[in-house]
Amino acid sequence: MTTIRLENLVKSFGSFTALKTMDLEIGNGEFVALLGPSGCGKSTTMNMIAGMEAPTSGRILFDGRDMAGVPMGKRGVGFVFQNYAIFTHMTVRQNLAYGPKARGWPKAKVDAAVAKIADFLQLTPMLDQKSAKLSVNILQRLAIGRSAIVEPAIFLLDEPLSNVDAAFRAVMRTELKHLQREFRQTMVYVTHDQLEAMTMADRIAVMDHGVLQQVGTPIEVYNDPVNLFVARFIGAPGMNLVEGTLAETDRGLAVDLGAFGLSPPLPAALAGAARTAGAKEVVYGFRPEEVTLRTEGPGLRAAVGFVERIGARTIVHFGAADRALKIVAEPSTAVSVGETLSIEPVAASVRLFDKASGRAIK
Ligand code: ATP
Repeated sequence: MTTIRLENLVKSFGSFTALKTMDLEIGNGEFVALLGPSGCGKSTTMNMIAGMEAPTSGRILFDGRDMAGVPMGKRGVGFVFQNYAIFTHMTVRQNLAYGPKARGWPKAKVDAAVAKIADFLQLTPMLDQKSAKLSVNILQRLAIGRSAIVEPAIFLLDEPLSNVDAAFRAVMRTELKHLQREFRQTMVYVTHDQLEAMTMADRIAVMDHGVLQQVGTPIEVYNDPVNLFVARFIGAPGMNLVEGTLAETDRGLAVDLGAFGLSPPLPAALAGAARTAGAKEVVYGFRPEEVTLRTEGPGLRAAVGFVERIGARTIVHFGAADRALKIVAEPSTAVSVGETLSIEPVAASVRLFDKASGRAIK
């Protein structure tokens, strides 16, 4: 096991800076997801950890040792890409055995390792099949197995599930987590899929435009996004965000939400933070899952636009595009299109952001 430390890491390609600055510490045996939209610098960061790209400035340390000038083959990293690199003329067994054999492991050790990883990744039944005949799903599983078998101290995966189908992706999320627990590797996982990051990672590093926005456990980034970008990016559907103006009322500080009316007074701690920050123009946020929905009563009044019933839950979409809200309700919730309802956010779940800077007020 190995710790990874990124210090003031910067990467430019000519005049374009893909990674503006990155400071991150990844613990022994920790599973960290680098999460962000396409082009935010995730792969660039990963390629530098692997040793495929050299940083423009800054340092990468493994267990405190500076990796500058250390080639990929000497870093003890395993790497799985979106596009699996499998020797198609070989069988599954030969592919799995390739790395161990190249390292000169004795035959008994190679055989045991192949059996263990094949069992783990459910590849045992096809061990003697030619890889060319395998489905994309199985090929990606094999690619993971081929890297994992030599038990690298650091395992880097760059969008390994983006080419596989949805059902298989769900299975692999669980398997990858098990794999990491079993082999106790330090794992860095690049994805643009917040669900993958939320379900597998110990901590998530959320990135945008070459800048690390927030690092935290899945529940931290979900509950306490540091800015509007993270609030929008984490959660599906994402946080409801409504622009408003802070207003003192006789019951305390509230937010005037324009067409939605006045919000209930803010919880004391949030009101205190907003006063201290001198905030005026804000964005009022609440999670679609954390509301009470009623026909009448306090809250934001809005008309139901359409209802999405997806088995275990129902997503109710409200209002026109410019002030659309989404609410996750019980599957049995009876609502009709066009009906106006009251949406009352659970007080403790309300978040405020400064409109100009996008930063959370807390
Ligand atoms: P994706 O999921 O699309 O790969 P990403 O977050 O991994 O996104 P990177 O691949 O790290 O993003 O790319 C970050 C930015 O750097 C992008 O704008 C990309 O076009 C640019 N970039 C990456 N590699 C190079 C290169 N070799 N030369 C020039 N620009 C590059």
